[in-house]
Amino acid sequence: MRIGVLAAQGAFLEHIAVLRELGVNTVPVRLPYQLDALDGLIIPGGESTSIRRLMLDYDLMERIKARARKGLPVWGTCAGMILLAKELSEPDETLAVMDIKVKRNAFGRQKDSFETRLLISALGEDPFPAIFIRAPIIEKVGDKVDVLARLEDETIVAARQKNLLACAFHPELTKDTRFHRYFLDIVAGSG
Ligand code: GLN
Repeated sequence: MRIGVLAAQGAFLEHIAVLRELGVNTVPVRLPYQLDALDGLIIPGGESTSIRRLMLDYDLMERIKARARKGLPVWGTCAGMILLAKELSEPDETLAVMDIKVKRNAFGRQKDSFETRLLISALGEDPFPAIFIRAPIIEKVGDKVDVLARLEDETIVAARQKNLLACAFHPELTKDTRFHRYFLDIVAGSG
């Protein structure tokens, strides 16, 4: 199994470190041809505007979109989730592959960054330590989307649509590897 981490901008090194710790063959992806040999792709958190610009400049937008549509497992964390969404509350170009509506920077200044423990039944009983950094939220999901996690006020912060996985927080910044292993199970066809 070979997993790519889009290495345009943002927290890609942290994802690569977790995957390597899990013993997974992992490659930083910067050029379109590198997508061909992948079994799964992670689009990290960072600044969605910068990641979008680099994806367009390096001709990755259309290529990732085509592979995701054909079933390549793709996991977007934070800014990566913004780029997977079909709809943004302030419209801008995205891969538009996942049937979710996302609002950027959805928490006010005082809650700019925070950590909380989330119950995510797909990951087991222990709450998951979720780090939110100028995070987006999911405002709406389509019928084919499973909600994986909500905050206490019901706000949706993680979801899955078949091969596509999205979360508003940063699992790569914690020591808990369950979210990464969940994605690897999807890649292996057993998740
Ligand atoms: N605020 C960023 C954006 O809108 C996302 C933040 C993150 O990825 N931690 O792109």
